[in-house]
Amino acid sequence: MRFFLAPKKSLGQNFLIDQNIINKIVNVKKIKKNSTIVEIGPGYGSLTKKILGLNPKKLILIEKDKKLSIFLKKQFAHLKNIKVINQDILNEINYNNVDNNIIVFGNLPYNISTKVLTSLILIKKWPPWYESLIFMFQKEVADRIIAKHNTKQFGRLSVISNWRLDVTKHFEISKNCFSPSPKVNSTLLSFKPKSNIYKIKNPENLEIVTRILFSNRRKMINKNFKKLFKNSYSVAEELDLDLKKRPGELASEIFYKIAVKYEQLTE
Ligand code: SAM
Repeated sequence: MRFFLAPKKSLGQNFLIDQNIINKIVNVKKIKKNSTIVEIGPGYGSLTKKILGLNPKKLILIEKDKKLSIFLKKQFAHLKNIKVINQDILNEINYNNVDNNIIVFGNLPYNISTKVLTSLILIKKWPPWYESLIFMFQKEVADRIIAKHNTKQFGRLSVISNWRLDVTKHFEISKNCFSPSPKVNSTLLSFKPKSNIYKIKNPENLEIVTRILFSNRRKMINKNFKKLFKNSYSVAEELDLDLKKRPGELASEIFYKIAVKYEQLTE
């Protein structure tokens, strides 16, 4: 494929050129005919064309690059079920009157991939408007998302992602499958909203708890725990929490319990 615009680094424009990989991505999950599908950052539409093969009822493309969105509008002008929105995905987009059970695809721009994911997790209404997310990340970011405690990669992103989403790793993608080729390889992950989750009323509280407890990865959590709770020892006892542990040694569930407690005591 020939690209007619200089790729913009600032928009993470590394376009997929390997047709086998594109086929693998759209077939990673069984997607019902007549689904509504959203694609984040469609670029020149290489993934989009394959998504159309899934016979969606509606396909919504959200592309920040104005010139690319004009290109896409022209390219798909003959298809009534495609809507191109020239917008930043990080801005508020109202999907409410679109549909339920939306599938979201995205070969996400590297520089905003974690922001996009966390914004889709930390929304007020749960279960959310989407049924599944099929996203490509820089390999190192994917490793952080799926990490378990007691590993180097485990951190805030792992805790926050696993709170509300079941995450599946599918396969890795070589940097050679893109043009221009990025410096690192990628990984395809998919996410499904959990129905049974720890009830944290305001997701911001999980953000606060993880930010404070992970602010010093190498140190025991006792000092940071005091920043969260005045009566830190009695809360720790109640939660059966050993304050001598380092944040990376605590399983995700413990962070959720701490966030629930924090919420109760700060209400
Ligand atoms: N899906 C295409 C592919 O696989 O070839 C392009 C993927 S490229 C990694 C990321 C795309 O996201 C680019 O088209 C870029 O212009 C677009 N993009 C970057 N930042 C964006 C944002 N904040 N909102 C929406 N689209 C964005």
